[in-house]
Amino acid sequence: MGLAALPQGQPMHATAIIAAGGRGRRLGAAVPKQLLDLGGRPMLQWSVDAFLACERIGDVIVVGPPEWVDAPPPFLRRPGIRLVAGGDRRQDSVANGFDAVSGTSDIVLVHDAARPFVDADTIERAIVAAAESGAAVVAVQARDTVKWSPADGSVGEVGADAGAPRVVERTMPRESVFLAQTPQAFRRAVLAEAVALGRAGGEGTDEAALAEQAGHRVRIVPGSARNMKVTTAEDLAMAEALVHGIDRRPVGDRGPHTIRVGSGYDLHRLVDGRPLILGGVTIPFERGLAGHSDADALCHAVTDAVLGAASQGDIGQHFPDSDERWRGASSIDLLRRAAAIVAALGYRVANVDATIIAERPTLGPFRAAMASGLAAALGLAPSAVSVKAKTNEGVDAAGRGEAIAVHAVALLEQPSAGLGPRAADPQKT
Ligand code: MG
Repeated sequence: MGLAALPQGQPMHATAIIAAGGRGRRLGAAVPKQLLDLGGRPMLQWSVDAFLACERIGDVIVVGPPEWVDAPPPFLRRPGIRLVAGGDRRQDSVANGFDAVSGTSDIVLVHDAARPFVDADTIERAIVAAAESGAAVVAVQARDTVKWSPADGSVGEVGADAGAPRVVERTMPRESVFLAQTPQAFRRAVLAEAVALGRAGGEGTDEAALAEQAGHRVRIVPGSARNMKVTTAEDLAMAEALVHGIDRRPVGDRGPHTIRVGSGYDLHRLVDGRPLILGGVTIPFERGLAGHSDADALCHAVTDAVLGAASQGDIGQHFPDSDERWRGASSIDLLRRAAAIVAALGYRVANVDATIIAERPTLGPFRAAMASGLAAALGLAPSAVSVKAKTNEGVDAAGRGEAIAVHAVALLEQPSAGLGPRAADPQKT
C-alpha cells in the first residue's frame, strides 16, 4: 500500500505468468481448451504472442499440464517462454508459476489463457498501474443493470413444473460494479504476499482477491469487452467470429490479408455411349463427355483454379492419366485431393465460381446439386460455391453441341498469414 512509483526512466522488468492448466471441460472438446484452434493458432498461443510482443516483458511463464514440462507443444518451444507444471486449483498453479519468476522482475502479471484477445496497450497500462500502485486489475464496468439474487431457486425453466423460480432481491448500482478480467499486475512483493496468503489457506478466485485479503489496495485498469473469457461453446463461437476482425501481427508486418485467386478452364468433347457427369452429378442426356476418368469438366476446371491459386501447377501434373492410380478416378475425389494439397500449404478455399458453356442439355435444374457436390469436396458451405450455365448461341464447338467447356475461378485465403504452413496444427508448427 502506498508504494511509490518507480523513478522516471528506470527500466521495469516484467514477467507474465499465463495460467493454462485448465482442461476446459465445459467446452466438451477432445483437445484441451487452451489448444483449440482459433484462426490458425492454438488459443493459448494468442496470449503468449501478445505478451512476448511487449517490450517490457522479459519472460513468459506458462503454467500448464505437468506433461508439458518435458514435452511442450512445439509453439511453446521458443526463447522467452518457460514451462511450469500447474497445481490442483488455479491459485496453486499461479503460485507454482510465481516460484519460477526471476529475482530481477519488478512487476509480475497473471493472465488467463482463456482470454486470447488481450492487447499490448492493456498489458502496458496494467504494468504501469502496478508500478505506481502496487496492484492492478484489468476490469470492465458493468453496462447492464445488475440484479442481485441469492443462489437458490432455478433459472430458465418456465411453467407449472419448473419449481421455485429464482427472484431478484435487489438492484445494485452498476456504477460501482466492475467485472474483473486479466491480466492482473503486481509489484513482485505484493504478489509474494498474495501467494503466501493462498498457501496459508486463503482462497481467491483471482490473485487480486488474495492481494485484497492481504490488505493491498487494487487499482482498476480499464479492460474491454474484446478481452473476453472463452469458457462455453457460445464463447468459442463468439471468439471465432472476432478472430477475423483482429490482426495481431506487429504493425510493421501487417500486409493485406493473404488472398490468392486462380482460374481454371476445361473442355471435353460430347460423344455417344458415355454418361454426362458434371460436378459429380450424373445428368440425364443422350451423350456424355469423352476422356479418361469420368471426364467431369466442371471438376477439372475448379481443380485447376484451386491449384492455380496456390501456384501448384494443374490437374494433369498432380493426377496424370498415365498413372494407373488415377485411371478411372472420380474427379470429385481429385478435387478433394487438390483442396488437401493447398490446405497443407496453409490455404483454405474461400469461394468458387464456375460457368459451364453447354448448348444442351438444360443444366439449370442441376446447378444446386453440382454446387453442393463441389462444396462438399472442398469442405465449404454450399453458399460458397456458385455454378452458372450458359449456351454459346450456336457458335463454335460448344455452341454446336460438340463439346462442353467450363471456366472457373477460386479464391484462397491464408488465415494466419506470416505464420507459415500448418500453423493450425500445434503438433506440427
Ligand atoms: Mg479435363
